[in-house]
Amino acid sequence: MKAALYVVPTPIGNIGDMTLRSVEVLQAVDVIAAEDTRHSRTLLNHYQITTPVISFHEHSGESAAVALAQRVAKGERIALISDAGTPLVSDPGYQLVRAVQSLGMSVVPLPGPCAAITALSAAGLPTHSFQFLGFLPPKQSARRNRLEALQSSESTIILYEAPHRILDLLNDIEDVLGAAREVCIARELTKTFETIRRDSATAIRDWVREDPNQQRGEFVVMIAAEVHKAKGMSNEALNLLRALAGELPPRKAAQLVADHYGLKSRDLYQTLISRP
Ligand code: SAM
Repeated sequence: MKAALYVVPTPIGNIGDMTLRSVEVLQAVDVIAAEDTRHSRTLLNHYQITTPVISFHEHSGESAAVALAQRVAKGERIALISDAGTPLVSDPGYQLVRAVQSLGMSVVPLPGPCAAITALSAAGLPTHSFQFLGFLPPKQSARRNRLEALQSSESTIILYEAPHRILDLLNDIEDVLGAAREVCIARELTKTFETIRRDSATAIRDWVREDPNQQRGEFVVMIAAEVHKAKGMSNEALNLLRALAGELPPRKAAQLVADHYGLKSRDLYQTLISRP
């Protein structure tokens, strides 16, 4: 293995989610730079990885990044890991990657676990275009401004959120983007209490609010792009249309909802098929 910085993803809950190559690389490198050396010890012990570990975290600063990059330039092979998932995805490492590249050395990325992509793959939301925004600001006014700017986004939005703020975030999504906006919440992915649920913003908010267990653990929240509703269509009709479209062919679902609400079946069908 050549001298380089190896960016190595680690499991987001299930310790079995290390790739073979990730284990081999961590065993072979000269040193592992870990976000939290104590936290990573469990994983390294599990895979009998005895490589020396040093600390590299978000407060290490640029000089620490430059010092590590210089070690790579002198011929060392260094692996970067974070507490969970892919380093640099809402995790430290960006400055280090740039420092290594600026010395003309290679950065070798390994594929592996990432909560955002894992959640997206089971959300049942459109995946042809998505936008990852990580954690929105903790202050409500700033968070709502960010959500307002997403009102007409044509991509599925992926967010991370901490348990003590999950209800606030869901309340703001409902308020700013509307009760009928489709939201998917993915909690405790790959762990014992893994829960993935998709529904309207109101239904998801109410469900989380009413069950304290749903406010615990780690969360990915995904928001569907705005639906172009048929003329005169209420949120209630839209929710029914969505529910039926999950069970019936689109034309049949559109016909049933149109008959019930006195709407045009063709318009409803267009709403269904024009969803991004
Ligand atoms: N680098 C990580 C990745 O690749 O996903 C993300 C690190 S970020 C500091 C931690 C956040 O990721 C958590 O607060 C949560 O929003 C999300 N996350 C991590 N593990 C998760 C899991 N098992 N289930 C749901 N969300 C998770």
